Amino acid sequence: MANSKYAYVRNYELPDPLLPGCFLMCRLDGHSFHRFSEVHGFTKPNDERALQLMDHAATDVVSEYKDIVLAFGESDEFSFLLRKSTNLYNRRHAKILTTLTSYFTSCYVFHWPRYFPNTPMQYPPSFDGRIIVYPDERSIRDYFAWRQADTHINNLYNTVFWALVQEGGKTTTEAHATLRGTVSATKHEILFKQFNTNYNDISPRFKKGSIIVRQVKGGRAKIGITVLHCDIIGDEFWTERPYILS
Ligand code: ATP
Ligand code: ATP
Ligand code: MG
Ligand code: MG
Ligand code: MG
Ligand code: MG
Repeated sequence: MANSKYAYVRNYELPDPLLPGCFLMCRLDGHSFHRFSEVHGFTKPNDERALQLMDHAATDVVSEYKDIVLAFGESDEFSFLLRKSTNLYNRRHAKILTTLTSYFTSCYVFHWPRYFPNTPMQYPPSFDGRIIVYPDERSIRDYFAWRQADTHINNLYNTVFWALVQEGGKTTTEAHATLRGTVSATKHEILFKQFNTNYNDISPRFKKGSIIVRQVKGGRAKIGITVLHCDIIGDEFWTERPYILS
């Protein structure tokens, strides 16, 4: 098509490249999922179907975008790490962020009936997204440690909170009041003494979140993608997989 006299408006579209040679972290988070989870009857504190659906959508994203080398999910969020040398969409910020966010959202909606066969979707969910540019391996390690520590802190709190409400007969206001200012040891003790629950016995999925890795050997993408619920704060995960940060 020849240039029309209108084509100059195109010049107002500015380039938005992400810094070269740096890791790109894309984190998506469900918009108002406090409400979405209530409207759709999610089990509290952890609806396993909802977490599996998040994992499925994230696995689809990892499968579609080969430069994603690691992903981590908890609750209504997922983080995707793109290798530092990626040239995906020429590292255009908006292009990468919007396509990853919309693809994840579509997959979430697309697979919904498989995980919630008896719960029709009441309204279309959306996810926000951001990309953070990190310069080095240390900050990537610390980023994932930060998210996994967050998973643990939230899960411990929520587990005790919902035990107090569902089994202890407290109102949500009372349960929050009981937990205000308590340290982790106190929460473990409430769980054990009042509810006969050993926190260690709770599913690793809830305590550790979901880690999605691409296995290097084998090569065939879909087969090579695995969901784990292991520790990523210590060195072991990383020394076993040196290719993630290379
Ligand atoms: P925002 O739009 O600011 O992100 P939000 O309501 O989504 O608001 P978040 O801090 O993202 O707030 O928290 C997500 C909330 O969604 C959790 O606090 C929890 O209530 C709910 N939720 C998400 N996943 C699950 C799940 N698998 N089981 C039960 N509840 C869940
Ligand atoms: P990119 O990912 O770069 O946007 P693209 O294939 O989507 O690549 P566009 O320039 O956005 O390229 O063009 C969209 C194309 O989609 C059109 O060229 C046409 O082939 C097809 N298309 C979109 N809407 C329709 C429609 N309503 N009927 C028929 N074809 C359509
Ligand atoms: Mg948020
Ligand atoms: Mg949210
Ligand atoms: Mg969240
Ligand atoms: Mg197009």
